[in-house]
Amino acid sequence: MHEFSIAQSIVDIACETAEANQAATVTEVHVEVGQASGVVQEALIFALESAVKGTLVEPAQFFIHEIPVVCKCHSCGRTFDGTGSLSMCPSCGEFSADLVSGRELRVKSVVLE
Ligand SMILES: [Zn+2]
Repeated sequence: MHEFSIAQSIVDIACETAEANQAATVTEVHVEVGQASGVVQEALIFALESAVKGTLVEPAQFFIHEIPVVCKCHSCGRTFDGTGSLSMCPSCGEFSADLVSGRELRVKSVVLE
């Protein structure tokens, strides 16, 4: 369950942000998770609940923002939704495409009080 180590680093980032800003508490943490990041949201939320215990982040509410998978075709340059597909270009049928987004896993913002 690598979600536990991910949750730990999310909590660390939020704590460091709070300390750097001398905030008493963290009210909201926004996390961007790409659909191709391999992270199971439910598992991440569960892991976060235990990772926040005893930290400044404990009272915070977590918001998980899902980032859709977007591919870009090597042949014709078209971008398309790659969710659940084998990254086949809908224009030319080419199977070689780059992942433009969808692997994100980062703390987008932290709301302090
Ligand atoms: Zn194409």
